[in-house]
Amino acid sequence: MRANPNIVVTGTPGVGKTTHCEMLAERTGLRHVSVNQIVKDKDCHEGWDEEYQSWIVDEDKLLDALEDEVAAGGCIIDWHACEIFPERWVDLVVVLRVNTSTLYDRLKARKYPEKKLQENLDSEIMDVLLQEAQDSYDENIVVELTSNTTEEMDSNVDRIEAWIKQWKKDNPPDGDNDDGSD
Ligand code: ADP
Ligand code: MG
Repeated sequence: MRANPNIVVTGTPGVGKTTHCEMLAERTGLRHVSVNQIVKDKDCHEGWDEEYQSWIVDEDKLLDALEDEVAAGGCIIDWHACEIFPERWVDLVVVLRVNTSTLYDRLKARKYPEKKLQENLDSEIMDVLLQEAQDSYDENIVVELTSNTTEEMDSNVDRIEAWIKQWKKDNPPDGDNDDGSD
């Protein structure tokens, strides 16, 4: 049993995953686990894709690299995909969503190549990440939140922080919840 929950924060690039994860980590003391950073630092890839300007991820290596950290609990996992994480690792999946024009502006500001920008906009319009989360996890642990404004982000962080507190109440450390039934 973990003392703290593991939360996956996912969504199309540019929706605000990293910003949310950093705020959450600062507020809750849970650890921001940037999968992009781990892929880079621990060589969990098969090389660099020039066209897409991103690493070609080796999923087996990535799961090995994450296993110990995730087993300890308390991870806020920041990645633009979620289906590779085993269900037993994950207590909550937050799918961030954003309006198309806002996402366009954010990805343009990042100087994404045109093809990558268009594919990510299409992915957001077609609910690809939400669908992936819903197909991979129990519906009760998947939550969709909008991230168009800083006000929305503040409210999301409040909600997730409250969820973590409730999770800890519902999952007390061994021994504290002994109701004599076993
Ligand atoms: P991701 O990690 O999903 O790619 P980031 O957290 O890097 O996204 O955010 C992309 C850009 O959008 C950053 O410049 C960030 O400041 C901005 N941003 C993210 N979420 C919001 C929000 N809810 N309101 C306003 N700006 C945001
Ligand atoms: Mg990011």
